[in-house]
Amino acid sequence: MESPFIEKIVLSKSARVGYAIFINTSVAWLVSNDPSNIMIVQNTQGDAEKFATKEIGKVFSHCVPVISKLYGKNTTTEKSFFGGDLSIVWATSASSFRMVTIKYLFMDEISGWTDNVDKEGDPIDLAITRTESEGQRKIVLGSTPKEAGTCKITREFLQTDQRYLYVPCPHCAFKQRLKLENFRFSPKNYKNAHFVCIHCSGKIEEHHKFNMVEAGEWRATREFECCGVHQTPEKWDETGSALCCKCGEPGDTNERGKIDAGFHIWSAYNDNPNTSLPSIAAEYDKAKKDPRKMQTFMNTKVGVEYSDAARIHKLNNFEALYQRREYYSPMESLPEQTCCVLATIDTQKDRFDYHFWAIGDRGEMWAVHYGKVHGDPEDAATQQSLIHELETEFTLSDGQSIGVFAAAMDCNGHAWKAMLEFCAPYQGWIFAIRGEVNAKTKFKPEFTLSFKVHPEVKCEYRSLNVHQLKNRAAERLNNEAPGKNYIHFPVSDVFDLTYFQMLTAEELKGSGSNVKWDKKPDQKRNEPWDLLVYVLWLWDFLRPEIKHASPQEPLGLIDPNAHKSSDDVIENDYGDYYETSDYGDY
Ligand SMILES: [Zn+2]
Ligand SMILES: [Zn+2]
Repeated sequence: MESPFIEKIVLSKSARVGYAIFINTSVAWLVSNDPSNIMIVQNTQGDAEKFATKEIGKVFSHCVPVISKLYGKNTTTEKSFFGGDLSIVWATSASSFRMVTIKYLFMDEISGWTDNVDKEGDPIDLAITRTESEGQRKIVLGSTPKEAGTCKITREFLQTDQRYLYVPCPHCAFKQRLKLENFRFSPKNYKNAHFVCIHCSGKIEEHHKFNMVEAGEWRATREFECCGVHQTPEKWDETGSALCCKCGEPGDTNERGKIDAGFHIWSAYNDNPNTSLPSIAAEYDKAKKDPRKMQTFMNTKVGVEYSDAARIHKLNNFEALYQRREYYSPMESLPEQTCCVLATIDTQKDRFDYHFWAIGDRGEMWAVHYGKVHGDPEDAATQQSLIHELETEFTLSDGQSIGVFAAAMDCNGHAWKAMLEFCAPYQGWIFAIRGEVNAKTKFKPEFTLSFKVHPEVKCEYRSLNVHQLKNRAAERLNNEAPGKNYIHFPVSDVFDLTYFQMLTAEELKGSGSNVKWDKKPDQKRNEPWDLLVYVLWLWDFLRPEIKHASPQEPLGLIDPNAHKSSDDVIENDYGDYYETSDYGDY
């Protein structure tokens, strides 16, 4: 609140992390130290009155330094003091915002606010208008998030520098965020709930939290541009503002040279028995069984927007995707950002469909090639042709050769056992997968639902959470900003309008717990969509390895010398296995 650089503060938070106390202490401090006009906006008149009596009213009746400043009008929702006024208003009435100039504006639970009040517009904008003539204004917005896609606090947070609390691991001291994705527990023993350190894999338990949070530091995470350099934050001041690597000043500033600071906090950081790690585990476990509970859990405990509603994953039009194709020729030379090449394979009755993808940094991907191998997938000749395709050598921009680093192969359908037999000798290179769309598991956040080894075939295979992966595929295709998580497609005959129609052949139907991905009425084929889903899984699955790769040290490099000498051996191995007589036994 005291930093002169910070103009806007956005708090995206789980429930009960002390936002009311923050407003109360801020107001008490302001009345005593910088008296001026203050406005607090609640959602409804009822909320405003409740806040006025239960929260801020106590400050004005018990806090001695504040009482000594009181002067003039003193009602429940309006307080006058030397140097200014405090008014507590509500967002459901446009007349709330017809007051004079405001220097300090606090808005509470904005995700529940109406979009348009009395046909005069967004109440957030109306309130901010009241601060426009104040050069040293402060605007504070706080809320628990709600429905994804339309969530107001998330929208506001994304327009800030996006700060998170980084806390040191008790074992290796590496500073990191406490993230739900690193949270582990056994459904049989919630007491064991813990985070896994992303650096040393050590267990971070409830009793570690207090000291970690004490030693935590806020860090802005949004990328920014300063001194003509596009940068990812690497240095911060004591408030968490990102400092420019060139000039050393706060670099992520708005058009007025001020900082819009966003803070995200959730229950895991809270030192409260109701939000201990075992109780978060118990609630998460319950929520997994019921999407409506999951919505509440994600909003009020994790403090993030959440929804499974169809509209947020509505796929972009296939023509728009076709239009954004770019001029690159990956089969001649891979994009220079390539860290590795992944392949995905879909099994059909009369053929294999395969897809190559060049993988860059931060989830950026380039479609390389989409092709078919015709023939019965159970037939050894068809399988040998597929292997031949998967052994394609690609050329990196520096001239070196690279092979497919890993492949994911769909083993669903009637021939799934035969497909596992095909994958068995290539385990570790070809990953056998089975898509699963199960009402019980589809709302789980994890992408890999189970890992099993077929007892006869001795081939490992994984079940994929196809529902969540398809949600992610839609997000990726809808991402229109090249860079992080963007998918590029080349201008070529392979990537024609038909390809993009198949790529967008499904849509999310239904709502609530009945929501599911299904083919659009006029669509029969969707192989590219499935192949995209598989590569998103494979990328996520291999992420720890891919993260350490770079275009200078890519994965899957082919050593020209080693390759020549081992060539014969490999061919023999394949030949032995694919003798038709051997295959006939199955
Ligand atoms: Zn650690
Ligand atoms: Zn700079």
